[in-house]
Amino acid sequence: MQNNLLLKSVQTIKTIGPRRAASLQKLGIFTVGDLLSHFPRRYEDRTHLCSAGTLVQDETATIGGKVLAAQDLKPRRGLTITKLAVHDGFGVFYAVWFNQPFIKKRLPPGTKIYITGKVDKGYGATQLMVEDYEVDDGGDSLSAGRLVPIYPLTEGLNQRQLRLMIRTALAVLDNQIVDFLPGEITEKYNLPRIGQALQQIHFPDGEKQARDARRRFIFEELFLLQLALAMRRREINCSVKSYNYLPPGKLLHLYRKNLPFQLTGGQRRVWREISADLDSSRPLHRLLQGDVGAGKTVVSTMAMLRAVESGLQAALMAPTEILAEQHYLGLSKDLAAIGVEVGLLTSGTRKKEREQLLARIAAGELKLLVGTHALLQGDVSFQRLGLVVVDEQHRFGVRQRAALTHKGNLPDTLVMTATPIPRTLALTLYGDLDISVINELPPGRNPVKTYAILPRALPKAMRLVKKQISLGRQAYIVCPLVEESEKIDLQSASNLSAELAANEFKGLQVEMLHGRMKSAEKEEIMSRFRQGEIKVLVSTTVIEVGVDIPNATVMIIIDADRFGLAQLHQLRGRVGRSSHQSYCILVANPKTDQSRERLRAMTRTRDGFLLAEEDLRLRGPGEFHGTRQSGFPELKIADLLRDWKALEVAREEAITLVHGDPSCKNTSTKAIFAEVEARFGKNINISCG
Ligand code: ADP
Ligand code: MG
Repeated sequence: MQNNLLLKSVQTIKTIGPRRAASLQKLGIFTVGDLLSHFPRRYEDRTHLCSAGTLVQDETATIGGKVLAAQDLKPRRGLTITKLAVHDGFGVFYAVWFNQPFIKKRLPPGTKIYITGKVDKGYGATQLMVEDYEVDDGGDSLSAGRLVPIYPLTEGLNQRQLRLMIRTALAVLDNQIVDFLPGEITEKYNLPRIGQALQQIHFPDGEKQARDARRRFIFEELFLLQLALAMRRREINCSVKSYNYLPPGKLLHLYRKNLPFQLTGGQRRVWREISADLDSSRPLHRLLQGDVGAGKTVVSTMAMLRAVESGLQAALMAPTEILAEQHYLGLSKDLAAIGVEVGLLTSGTRKKEREQLLARIAAGELKLLVGTHALLQGDVSFQRLGLVVVDEQHRFGVRQRAALTHKGNLPDTLVMTATPIPRTLALTLYGDLDISVINELPPGRNPVKTYAILPRALPKAMRLVKKQISLGRQAYIVCPLVEESEKIDLQSASNLSAELAANEFKGLQVEMLHGRMKSAEKEEIMSRFRQGEIKVLVSTTVIEVGVDIPNATVMIIIDADRFGLAQLHQLRGRVGRSSHQSYCILVANPKTDQSRERLRAMTRTRDGFLLAEEDLRLRGPGEFHGTRQSGFPELKIADLLRDWKALEVAREEAITLVHGDPSCKNTSTKAIFAEVEARFGKNINISCG
């Protein structure tokens, strides 16, 4: 068994020294196993060797032959052209390299080589502009007469070197590696076993073999991922809550009675699901999905109240200070009437206040705590944390969610997101959660009228803003994302706001809001905006998530083509939160078809679900709603969208396997569980056994 070799450093391979190892590291390759799972991006079909006489201008061809003579030319400073005359058995052609003077020495006359390059016929001589070459040492060729793998590269490495390293690694393994996929599964889905799959994905005998090998690794990756999720889920399902809930009582009743509206059908249905989970003995572990403005907050508040009236504590974590503050204000206002106190903890909380707050939470005096990431700090401890609510889950990583959960003893966990996620993706991103969806908006909401305009029509948009303000409404102006740099964004935001205050909106209250402001400043601005004193809020995307100020009815998004669809939809969700007609104006001069399409999609549809799918189609799942930043494991070869069929199969097999071996102790499945832990354990927070 050679599996241990897979875990060894690449330097165990003879031809890899420290320098090459350093280059490989840049590709994320550390071990022999990493090297072997550096799969080709594509293959070049060089099955047919050409002969010099039949070459076609500008085509890429591969020819074998013997070096006759070599010549270096230096037509000008800094340019060396090396020409090798090569005889292919029928005629002569010239192989041409630029600025690689060592070639002459490396390929002396008499050397047999294969050469791949672009054909250039001129003045009776046939030249090949070399892209790839290989010395023909009599063994199997890696670069000619076959499908040739093309790998992702990095500086200091070329295709030839990678091919050689991988071939050497495969030779060392000598097909002795043990497959951790159960034989029944590879048989059932007609997948090659690991040894053959590795050989064929790198150096395929034909296209079918390459496809099958690829299919195997895609399945393998999805299967391991789904196993990780299934294991985590099982862990949760098997656990028993440490606290029990009392039946719904007076607090909940009063809160609901005081609400100025009726719950929508969607809210009621979701509440029944959540409430049943609270009553169950296994911890609630649920994703609450609902488009922006669907009214998730009310539902989570009801859950928190059930915790409080059962003598437990509840924590609500939000991704930004502004949102945490808003939740705090809203809850304090609604709950004061029924005598429930709420605390707020952010990184901006003053030291003394923080100390007092922490003491009261630890003692169990304070039952409800709202906050940002600051809740995760080590010295925050609860007396009886029964319920954790995470708002706008997509902004947090799986690990942060887990960190908050670990502050309690198997507390109930409710995570909320406005991100409508297509089913296949949800199964994976949130494979360990139950899912509830609020599928309707509260009644009486007029759809936001959305227009895309060119920058020169901006004055018209500003007139709309003025009109709305004269009607007593308020406006957001979202500033261009100039670059990734916050500093420059800030500059552009402050310029814009100063200009607006001096010209268009002279005499009106215009203020600016951005992420770098001190907490107190942000609070002050938001509170003046909430009270209607500030009429126009010029802001960076800090207002993107969750902000709820129903009197704001216009949003102007400058350079809207720089934002992704999901983000535009979130931003737009800040207006249209009352029965007043709202407007969203996307200002852009789109340069690519893709950005034009995005803007068009925004004006056409208000349905977050459709937009999410459009976003996926346009950008691919990697970019999808910051799944990258969420700490979700990156997939090497599988693609959650393209491979959705394999994903569903993998999910079923994973569930069956975990079901059949609940303690993951069978010797037959040990290897696979070990592999799951090695690959996904860190990200998904599982441990086996
Ligand atoms: P989100 O789901 O985006 O978090 P919120 O919870 O912030 O949405 O709710 C959006 C707005 O809708 C809030 O102002 C809230 O008071 C209001 N709202 C919630 N539920 C209802 C309802 N059933 N009827 C009318 N308005 C509601
Ligand atoms: Mg919300």
